[in-house]
Parts: sequence; structure tokens; C-alpha cells
Amino acid sequence: MLYRELGSTGEKVSILGFGTMRLPTVEGVKNQIDKEKANEMLEYGIKNGINYIDTAYPYHGTNFNGEGESERFLGEFLSNGYRDDVFLSTKMPSWTINSKEDMENIFNRQLELLQTDYLDAYMIHSVKQDVWDKLPDLGLFQFLDDLKSSGNVKYVGFSFHDSLDLFLEVIDGYEWDISLTQMNYLDTDYQSGITGLQYSDILGLGNVVMEPLRGGKLSQDIPPDILKTWDKSKIKRSPVEWAFKYLYNMKEVDVVLSGMNTLEQVKENIAIANNSYPNTLNIEEKELIREVAAIYKNKKGNDCNGCGYCMPCPYNVNISDCFKEYNVSLIFDEVESAKHHYKLILDKEKRASNCTDCKKCIRLCTQQINIPDELKKVVKLFGE
Ligand code: SF4
Ligand code: SF4
Repeated sequence: MLYRELGSTGEKVSILGFGTMRLPTVEGVKNQIDKEKANEMLEYGIKNGINYIDTAYPYHGTNFNGEGESERFLGEFLSNGYRDDVFLSTKMPSWTINSKEDMENIFNRQLELLQTDYLDAYMIHSVKQDVWDKLPDLGLFQFLDDLKSSGNVKYVGFSFHDSLDLFLEVIDGYEWDISLTQMNYLDTDYQSGITGLQYSDILGLGNVVMEPLRGGKLSQDIPPDILKTWDKSKIKRSPVEWAFKYLYNMKEVDVVLSGMNTLEQVKENIAIANNSYPNTLNIEEKELIREVAAIYKNKKGNDCNGCGYCMPCPYNVNISDCFKEYNVSLIFDEVESAKHHYKLILDKEKRASNCTDCKKCIRLCTQQINIPDELKKVVKLFGE
């Protein structure tokens, strides 16, 4: 197993982290964790070097606003003598918080579920503009300071799925220890992207990344043209191994979270992490990854690079974010999840359907995109 120091914390963590949002479930019962299988996976993982475990309040719940089963299951598992062997991280469900009392109540409940009196890391889950506008005024920073000084929490951080601009604002807004962002070889310019990761690294934060396989899209149902490209490499690797190798090769990345679902996946991912030392890719291999990324990206609908020169739109359309989600859906042929994300990150007044076809933005586009025409395609794909 390859280990890295988690930013400036001095903690030595396994580069492969165990995400517990996709544990195996009992057949036919969506949110009931199959404890026998999940125990076996975690036991194997820990005995073979994984020491970073990630969970969150709503994981394995019936909806994202309530308590899930993941923390309760982990608490039971860790109480069998594993607690001190792992770096345990969980998250505050930021979108459900309306007062400092909510923060305290949920945190105490989380400790109870996890059967522990301290957390190695407490993360603010999914920080977005609305959360960032609200939580500091409710006393978030004092709450986090108190958790650290009381010894209930060693390190604090946040997970993130929004724009780079907001990421920079958030990261500069408090003395965080850890950031958790999305990264894989296709998402270098998506959300906080590589720029965010590098900035976080410069500040000395621990960098944990998620979605190494982009929800399985980089490992399953791989298009023939991509497989053919991977096959050009002298050293043969599976698409999964390429995806992990890419991240392990980045010096800024301390932990790669993988939401493993079977024992076979745990074994495969550990074998890759074991074989990744020394973890350098040569120039040809890096070039090959770039080539594969370019093939994926060529499947997109337009060339928007997110520069933002076309904005502000007089009718409030967030043109670059509309195109970002539109292109992602075409690259991965996954309309439903992109549509969900589109509606999640864009308030109604910022969506493509507000475009009046005034054409004021067209001359401003650095990529000569006919913006209103492309926005019509976004509406066609995602609806009003
Ligand atoms: S054409 Fe649409 S997106 Fe462009 S400025 Fe006008 S309303 Fe905004
Ligand atoms: S100017 Fe063009 S490339 Fe830049 S964000 Fe707007 S649409 Fe995208």
C-alpha cells in the first residue's frame, strides 16, 4: 500500500480510502446493508493496508435529508477493535442545518452512531453557494473551533461540488485542514478541478479526492475506441488501473476515495495501490491518458471552456454552467444524472430556459459558439 502524509496534519494515510456510500445491500432491500459482506470487505481492506474510512450522515438512507445506515453499520464494525486502526471521517449534512443547535445535535448523534468519542475528520458535506451563504452566520466556525479544542474532532474540512471561484472563496474563508473534491483524468477542469487541488496543496491542506472512476463510467461499458487506445500501451492495464494510476501520480493527492461494493473490488483496488509504488507514470503513459481524455471529451456537444466572458447574461442565464452539465451528459451518455446535477446546482432563474434569444452574448464568446442555439439544445435535453 502506498501511504501519503495528509497535508500538514502529520497523519500517514493510505492513498486508497474506503468510501462507505455503496456498501453491498441485502437483495431486494435497497438501504439495508448486507453486514456479512460489508464486514468481510472492511476487514480485508484494513488488514491489507487501508486506514482511511469515509462516511456521511445520509449514506445508505432512504433520502438524503435523514439518517442513513452507513454510520450505524460502521460504528458496529469499528467497535470490534478496529477504531484505533483507522482514520475515521464523516460529514455534517450541511443542507439540513438551520441553527447551531442543529449542528450540535447532529454531531452528537453521529458520535453515538459511530460508537466513538472522537472523529479524526469532520467535514462539511457538499458546500455550495447557499450553504456558504448560510452556515457561517449560524456560527459554523465557532462550532468547528470548539470541536477541535474539545478533542472531539482532530481535523475539519469540507467536501465540494461547485465552481472554482466558490472553492477559492471557501478555502480562504477558514483554517481548514482537509478538502474533499472530485477528481479523475476527465475532470481536470470540472468544478474546483486541478487549479483548486493545487491551491489547496499550496495552503497545506490534506487533499482527499472522490469519483476516481466517475461513478463507474471510466471502468464499465468502455467504448471500443477507448479500449483500443488503452491497448496501445506497452504495459497492459485495465481502465480501472489507469484511472487510479493517474491520481496516484499526482503529488497533490493524499487519499483517493473509492466507494467499493464487492470484495473483488476491494482486492482489485488494493492490488493497484500496492503496485503503484513507485508511483510515476512515464511521458508516453501520461500522453496516452491525455489521448483517452480527448476522445471522451470529443463526444461533447460544444467547445465551451467555461471562461465566462459571455456573462453576465442580462436575463441571468449561467451560460457556462449550463454548457458544463450539457457536455458532461453527452460525454458519458448519462442524461438522468446530469439533469439531476443541472437542477441541483442551477437555480431556476439561471437555467437555459430563461434565454430570450437576445443574442447579446454571441459576439462575446471566445469559442465562437452560437450560445442561444446551444442553450436551446440544453433545454431540449434537460427540459424546462
Ligand atoms: S442570448 Fe440568451 S444567454 Fe445570451 S445574453 Fe441573451 S438571454 Fe442571455
Ligand atoms: S464565452 Fe463561450 S466559451 Fe466562454 S463561457 Fe461563454 S459560452 Fe463558454
